[in-house]
Amino acid sequence: MEIRRICVIGSGTMGNGIAHVFAQHGYEVYLVDINQEALEKALKTISKNLDRQIKKGIVKQEEKETILNRIQTTTDLQQGAKNVDLVVEAVTESIKIKEQVFREVSKYVPEHTIIASNTSSISITKLATFTDRSERFIGMHFMNPVPVMKLVEIIRGYDTSDETTQIIEETAKKLNKVPVVVNDYPGFVSNRVLMPMINEAIYALYEGVATKEAIDTVMKLGMNHPMGPLQLADFIGLDVCLAILQVLYEGFGDPKYAPCPLLVKMVEAGHLGVKTGKGFYNYN
Ligand code: NAD
Repeated sequence: MEIRRICVIGSGTMGNGIAHVFAQHGYEVYLVDINQEALEKALKTISKNLDRQIKKGIVKQEEKETILNRIQTTTDLQQGAKNVDLVVEAVTESIKIKEQVFREVSKYVPEHTIIASNTSSISITKLATFTDRSERFIGMHFMNPVPVMKLVEIIRGYDTSDETTQIIEETAKKLNKVPVVVNDYPGFVSNRVLMPMINEAIYALYEGVATKEAIDTVMKLGMNHPMGPLQLADFIGLDVCLAILQVLYEGFGDPKYAPCPLLVKMVEAGHLGVKTGKGFYNYN
């Protein structure tokens, strides 16, 4: 089966990047969100990120309009999903919201359509049960920022077919990404390893071991990480980090994954990182 038309659901941090890379590589994209403002913001972000790629010589100036014209935005899920070969869901990291989206989108998509979730941590096997096609359901976990990061972690649910996995691997390669296939356990590989590190960095700040700048500098210069863990948490979104840690904590039943109280408090206060202008650092 050839994938040509994509529906990306959710146009936030990840959704706009996913729409961007598919359009950049010639796919026709329907970008859906419940929030019209989020769609407008996504188009502005994509335009700005294309300008960045033009400066770097990755995209030609004359291609920009064509790429943007491949993306149609809508708040009507049926409209966006009715004619596509692949759905990539990138809505808020909440199983309740995702359940509602998958139950609804299953009604609209054609029989052959593959449904993928960009979830950072929620069980792919569980999410598949909200659709009518667990063999054609898979995790397609892009990394942030999507236009820059090479990895796509592909997560096979319990019922995901070999054919679906192969199509999604090939699709990721067509986006000039490197697919890595993993099995479906809490946090998969990426967040099972990353989130405990971020949580530990937040604990170090909470316990007064060092300042945020000191913690990030130790990890940047000492471990050769391009970004310190606290700054990275701001980029990911502190609400997203908290949601992933809760999945790890509940999924393994192990207190080592318990989210740091400081993270919980910052999310309660609405300081979610880059997307709200304030997290561990200020972005205004
Ligand atoms: P975000 O909060 O930036 O964006 C979520 C978007 O979903 C919002 O625009 C919201 O309006 C929209 N939305 C909510 N309910 C909806 C619905 N019913 N229908 C359509 N749209 C709806 O979140 P994000 O950071 O882009 O995360 C999206 C998904 O990607 C999550 O599952 C997250 O775990 C995953 N993810 C995030 C990162 C990251 O670094 N932020 C990295 C990899 C994966």
